[in-house]
Amino acid sequence: IANLHKKELTFKFVIIGDFGVGKTSIINRYTDGEFSSSYKVTIGADFAIKTLEWDEDTRINLHLWDIAGHERFGTLTGIFYRHCVAAALVFDLTRPDTFNSIKKWLVDLRKKASLPGGQPIPTILLANKGDIITKTIPAEINEFCLENNVMAWFVTSAKDNVHIDEAMLRLTNSALKNH
Ligand code: GDP
Ligand code: MG
Repeated sequence: IANLHKKELTFKFVIIGDFGVGKTSIINRYTDGEFSSSYKVTIGADFAIKTLEWDEDTRINLHLWDIAGHERFGTLTGIFYRHCVAAALVFDLTRPDTFNSIKKWLVDLRKKASLPGGQPIPTILLANKGDIITKTIPAEINEFCLENNVMAWFVTSAKDNVHIDEAMLRLTNSALKNH
């Protein structure tokens, strides 16, 4: 029997990081279960929806906001971040400069987004393209997370579907706790 009284929650997550790190691929993998190696540039900000039948009484709609186009610092307006309750920072393990950029993305995020009580929104760090052999995990990643209120980091692969569900689950659990 369908539960007609199911509570419906909507959470907005933002997925940020440099151009080409795999943000759109991660979102597509998570919402459609698909990966495409062809390069598509989306124009403007965009979001995809993932619906989770969380439990008997609760359905969760995740709105995953994607930056589209040529990501540059400071170009994201407050509208992109408005009402977001969690964030995934993404860098590309094969391009160390994209990890350095994470610091700037985080400054932008902390400046423009916070929980209604003023606390920083739950944030995770994704080291993407973990399927590619030539890669080095930045030595300072643990320290960086500790210092910047980043609650966890994962090596992910949008290509091979590694750790993407786990990462999103961490964010969803935090969003539920804060809700
Ligand atoms: P975005 O600019 O951050 O949205 O990056 P895209 O999702 O468009 O990905 C950029 C390129 O990297 C595309 O060619 C993707 O196919 C590729 N890519 C994304 N994620 C992965 C991954 O986990 N592994 C590999 N090998 N390639 C990936
Ligand atoms: Mg993209």
